[in-house]
Amino acid sequence: MGWTSFQVSTRTRTQLADITEKVSAAVEKAGVQDGVCHVYVPQTTAGVTINEAADPDVAKDLEEHLARLVPQDAGFEHAEGNSDSHIKTTLVGPSVSAPVRGGKLSLGTWQGIFLCEWDGPRTRTVEVGVTALS
Ligand code: ZN
Repeated sequence: MGWTSFQVSTRTRTQLADITEKVSAAVEKAGVQDGVCHVYVPQTTAGVTINEAADPDVAKDLEEHLARLVPQDAGFEHAEGNSDSHIKTTLVGPSVSAPVRGGKLSLGTWQGIFLCEWDGPRTRTVEVGVTALS
């Protein structure tokens, strides 16, 4: 199979949306036993990260601390007024990869995959591809 994609509708201007289950489902559909799962977000104001999903306060702290690091109104040049969103997207990055073992996404016990929305609410695209290891 090639790349598959799914959509995520975010609800607020900034939001860490847990997409672990959707990525897991795409991995299982791919039918690769041993490989690498690639998750790519083709957006300029949303990214993706892997971090703790057990305690929702971790995602909340990440979101709130990045807001303090990169204020929305800091005298940026970009006329669209969302340079903070672009900068936070670069900080978290557009892609992550994770192991696939036994046909399943193999994250650490406390890990989850989050779409990082920095300029919502919007509908975002997430692309998932799985490469087999021989
Ligand atoms: Zn912009």
